[in-house]
Amino acid sequence: MSALVSTIQAGFDVEKVRGDFPVLKQKVHGKPLVYLDNAATSQKPLAVIEAIRKFYEVDCANIHRGVHELSQRSTAAYEQTRVKVKQFLNARTKNELIFVRGTTEGINLVASSWGRKCVKSGDEIVVSGMEHHSNIVPWQILCEEKGAKLRVIPIDDRGELLMEEYEKLLGPRTRMVAVAHVSNALGTVNPVREIVEMAHKAGALALIDGAQAAPHMKVDVQALDADFYAFSGHKLFGPTGVGVLYGKSKLLNAMPPYQGGGDMIRTVTFEKTTYNDLPYKFEAGTPNIAGGIGLGAAVDYVNRIGLDKIGAYEHELLAYGTEALSQIGGLRLIGTARQKAAVLSFVMEGIHPHDIGTVLDRMGIAVRTGHHCAQPVMDRFGVPATTRASLAFYNTTAEIDALAAGLTKVKEMFA
Ligand code: PMP
Repeated sequence: MSALVSTIQAGFDVEKVRGDFPVLKQKVHGKPLVYLDNAATSQKPLAVIEAIRKFYEVDCANIHRGVHELSQRSTAAYEQTRVKVKQFLNARTKNELIFVRGTTEGINLVASSWGRKCVKSGDEIVVSGMEHHSNIVPWQILCEEKGAKLRVIPIDDRGELLMEEYEKLLGPRTRMVAVAHVSNALGTVNPVREIVEMAHKAGALALIDGAQAAPHMKVDVQALDADFYAFSGHKLFGPTGVGVLYGKSKLLNAMPPYQGGGDMIRTVTFEKTTYNDLPYKFEAGTPNIAGGIGLGAAVDYVNRIGLDKIGAYEHELLAYGTEALSQIGGLRLIGTARQKAAVLSFVMEGIHPHDIGTVLDRMGIAVRTGHHCAQPVMDRFGVPATTRASLAFYNTTAEIDALAAGLTKVKEMFA
């Protein structure tokens, strides 16, 4: 607690920040909302809501096509987000940033476009045992189509990757290593710099799933040397339906288009179509314009608070929550990696996670129960599901206390 106070004194005022999120002000089932499902989607600050509203109220037009004023304005606002994301991820140029629907589409784009061209029978794709289904299934589809093989880095009882096993998996057949920066089910922060370096040494490419990292820590794609990096706007306090795929331009330039349609072409005849330059080559059809503009506002908002401050505060909140939940008898944390971010996943002896979630909901506490789209992780830990409380920088120690009190009540009810 005292450490939290020191963070607040160092310039992070959680109560002030909470004021930016209208949704947090409500009561649910007569109790103040305690929103602890941020890994599924995070809440949106007024700045984001207003940017979307302004687009629809004032600037609404299709982009890249019109010479008229509204189209010019909406194009400028949308493209401005690309510049903001370039700075946010420290990409070399804004042309390395492709707007997609989210992390899932970003990964599918690479598996489909790069995979179609570069993967052949006998090749291998390496993923880890803690991946979200979005970073498993696209590679499985590719492997099935090409006769390639999916190999899996195992994890230990803490929920950390076994790096020596990873090393053994790498070889001349490895084409791609696709790993989460932060696990949504366990909270593990993976050593992605090292993972990328090892992949490169083996002559493979590396894709990092940044869905759970971008909202919590500074990401520098050049420092990581990742070939591809994907994240979702809606987990970064931005709108749903928009996300970004970063890719090194020399790789993106060599890849075939993902989808055909408007914006991705230079010229079309029935005999032959030539494609647009990056990033538009991968952006067919009218995109989520309002979403893209909202994402720009979300990036600005996060930058204003500062990811360093966010990370430090959340780290202390996580330590506080870990300690609080450890006091509850019969509760077992799933995922106790030494490097963790923002996730408290757990099971309680003899009580089904859905019952836990339902009782907590009656107390106004929103948590996620289930397999969190990471069924192999559940299998690894021998549980069908967990309850997951996932944190954001607007959560408080009082909310953690409410969660702990709620879980104690759940225990009494099911004893
Ligand atoms: N990867 C991870 C680690 C995730 O947590 C999620 C979302 N739960 C995804 C990928 C997929 O993100 P989206 O549904 O926004 O495409």
